[in-house]
Amino acid sequence: MRFKLTILALALSIAPAFADEYPSRPITILVPYAAGGPTDTVARVTAQSMSKILGQPIIIENALGAGGTIATARAARSEPDGYTLLVHHIGISTAPTLYRHLSFDTKTAFAPIGLITNAPMTIIARSDLPPNTLKELIDYIHANGDKMTFGHAGLGAASQLCSMLFMTAVNKQILTVPYKGNAPVMNDLMAKQIDMTCDQTTNTTGPIGSKLVKGYAITTKTRLASMPDLPTADEAGLPGFEVSAWHGLYAPKGTPDAIVQKLTKALQAALRDPDLVKRFTDINTDPVTQEEATPKALKAKLDSEIDHWAPMINAQGQYAD
Ligand code: ASP
Repeated sequence: MRFKLTILALALSIAPAFADEYPSRPITILVPYAAGGPTDTVARVTAQSMSKILGQPIIIENALGAGGTIATARAARSEPDGYTLLVHHIGISTAPTLYRHLSFDTKTAFAPIGLITNAPMTIIARSDLPPNTLKELIDYIHANGDKMTFGHAGLGAASQLCSMLFMTAVNKQILTVPYKGNAPVMNDLMAKQIDMTCDQTTNTTGPIGSKLVKGYAITTKTRLASMPDLPTADEAGLPGFEVSAWHGLYAPKGTPDAIVQKLTKALQAALRDPDLVKRFTDINTDPVTQEEATPKALKAKLDSEIDHWAPMINAQGQYAD
């Protein structure tokens, strides 16, 4: 008993000191998709600013596969010491319904740090696809959809969610081609190996602007100031069509509160960093507000999004095991 009390006293006295010193070595952020893609870009831009603030390098590790669930599972079971974190997007909230055998409970497996950004998505196609407007694209799909291909980043990716919503909205199934991220999807789209995709502005702003791909619509309620000619899906022929990729930063459950608070403060400071703001603005995504970059806001978003998407995914009935 006495021995146990001594150990407890020792642990209590060490914990705050440990948090004070945190971080004393490089931090790793797991990213579920390929390097050079949209989620990777959000993670790298954020990590660069946070690293300046925390005074330690932040290493990005792309842990690919199974629609993002490999990285999520690794993050969930990693040491809760603040040295392994996860950047994930909306896909973390669809995976619990799509994947019926996840090794963790998404709602309780993490200590959320805060939201990062909310990236609009764009419906795009290879540059030589004949239709020029969303309405023409829909007609073209009705006539030629059986021969077309729709690339996405795997069951559970934002691009897959958008593809599912799009095909439901146009009432036509197109053959989907799963990749391990939107970086390789974009390469194949620019090389005209596949016909179309739905991808985040963080990845598509450049290629649409330089006409390497054809942009048909943005999936948010309002047009982007920097691409005023790109209509919203709602106004161009798909009323009510709306989806965007919110991103969050997570630590594993059990991470000491003092470390979570330090990471939240660093994230909030990063989101005020003019370098980060400029880089995000250039790729048409806005950093979230300081109130959203908090554990409470991310937890609320995660839980409500899991509940929001579940019925829609169940209605679709496409699962992974
Ligand atoms: N965020 C992308 C998606 O969900 C994947 C990626 O980042 O490459 O489709």
